[in-house]
Amino acid sequence: MKRAEPRGKPAVKGELFIVSAPSGAGKTTLCREVSRIVPRLKHSVSYTTRTPRKGEKNNVHYSFVNQDRFRAMLKKGEFAEWAVVHGNLYGTSAKRLKELSNKGYDIILDIDTQGALQFRRKFADAVYVFILPPNMKILEQRLKGRKSDMNREIKRRLLNARKEIASYREYDYIIVNDNIKKALRELESIITARRLRTSRVDAGFIKALK
Ligand code: ADP
Ligand code: 5GP
Repeated sequence: MKRAEPRGKPAVKGELFIVSAPSGAGKTTLCREVSRIVPRLKHSVSYTTRTPRKGEKNNVHYSFVNQDRFRAMLKKGEFAEWAVVHGNLYGTSAKRLKELSNKGYDIILDIDTQGALQFRRKFADAVYVFILPPNMKILEQRLKGRKSDMNREIKRRLLNARKEIASYREYDYIIVNDNIKKALRELESIITARRLRTSRVDAGFIKALK
C-alpha cells in the first residue's frame, strides 16, 4: 500500500534523497521497495557501462551503454554527477532528474560516495542517507548470496567497502540494514519527515484554514 503523502499541495520542486552504501549492504533492495510503497517517489535510473546482471532490464534497472556512448554524454555535460565505481562508469542524467522533478516527483538516487559528494556541492539541501551492513561477514555473505558477481569482483567490492564506509560522516542519516523490514521503515520515516517540513506546506492550504 502507498503511504506518506505530505499535507497540502506538494511543492513544485521535488526533494532529492541520495542513498549510498558499500556494495551488498542492500541499498538497491531498499530504494526499489521504498519507491514502490511511497507515493510520488521515483527511483532514478542511472546510466552505466557495466554489463547487465541476470534479470536486469535496460532503462528499468539501469540504462546500459557502452564506453563510447557514456563518454559522448559526459562530453556534452549530460550528467548531474558521474563516477568510476568498481571499474565501471556510472552517471545520473541531469535531464531525467529535471523531468521527474518538474512532474512533481521526489527522487531517490542510489549512487556511490564519490557521486554523493559531487551532489553535495550542487544540491546542498538534498537528503543524504548511508546504509550500513550489520557487520562485514554479513556483507560478504550478501554479496556471495546475490550470485551476480564473480569471486574476483566480490573481493574488489569488499575492498572498496572499507573506503566507502569511511565517508559516512558526509551523510545526514545512517540506517543499519540488519532486518529489511525495519530498515525499510526507517528509510520511509526519513522521507516522511522531510515531506512534513513547514516549507513543503502550501501557503494556500493554510490560508484556507484561517
Ligand atoms: P546493494 O544494492 O547495496 O549492492 P542489494 O540490494 O543488491 O545490495 O542486496 C545485496 C543482497 O542482500 C541481495 O541478495 C538482497 O536480497 C540481500 N539483502 C538485502 N537486505 C537484506 C537484509 N536486511 N537481510 C538479508 N538479506 C538482505
Ligand atoms: P552495482 O553495479 O552494484 O549496481 O552498483 C555499483 C555502485 O555504483 C553502487 O555503489 C551504486 O550506488 C553506484 N551507482 C549506481 N548508479 C550510479 C550513478 O548514477 N552514479 C554514481 N556515482 N554511482 C552510481
